[in-house]
Amino acid sequence: MITAAREAVDLLIQAAGSWEFEDTLHGLRDREWMALRFLARANRFSRTPSGLAQFVGTTRATASQTVKRLEDKGYLQRRSSDEDKRSVILDVTQRGETILLRDPIAQLVHAVATLELGANNFRDLLRQILEQLDARRDRHHADNCRKCIFLTEASGDTRRKQPEYTCRFFRADIGESEIDLLCFNFERRERGAFSA
Ligand code: SF4
Repeated sequence: MITAAREAVDLLIQAAGSWEFEDTLHGLRDREWMALRFLARANRFSRTPSGLAQFVGTTRATASQTVKRLEDKGYLQRRSSDEDKRSVILDVTQRGETILLRDPIAQLVHAVATLELGANNFRDLLRQILEQLDARRDRHHADNCRKCIFLTEASGDTRRKQPEYTCRFFRADIGESEIDLLCFNFERRERGAFSA
């Protein structure tokens, strides 16, 4: 008898057809879409060639070729990191943001947003699955600062309109606009803190 867990995985694999396809769509291969999508969602510490290779699951050399193709199309530009001039940061250009409006996963995002179960619950279930897989493979998935053990929230100055955050791992300030971006140095904190 097929278990519900096995059925769920069969369905999940079919849903992957939303982001895996032959040939190109709007001029980009599925791996290039994946790269551009990740770089648009990653923070400044993970928006790097090695962060990209880790996310896409390729070697640095293959990731570099993808970056080169996206640069040639005007969707990416590279710059030196403010923190370490030797490090390269990959920024999505305005042209890149515009092509992302045609991202083939938009239909999947819509389907998740309209789930009866609720997108938040679905997201939390997927996080639990990834955490189990991470534990078995001795790795961390990319996730945002809100649930990261290294995030500290500044307190005590009530004159500030916005809360301010610091990353203890990178010893750097984290702006409000960066807190929901993906990071590969993420490490899960206790449940409940800084909940989204
Ligand atoms: S707080 Fe965690 S997720 Fe955020 S930048 Fe630092 S290490 Fe990355």
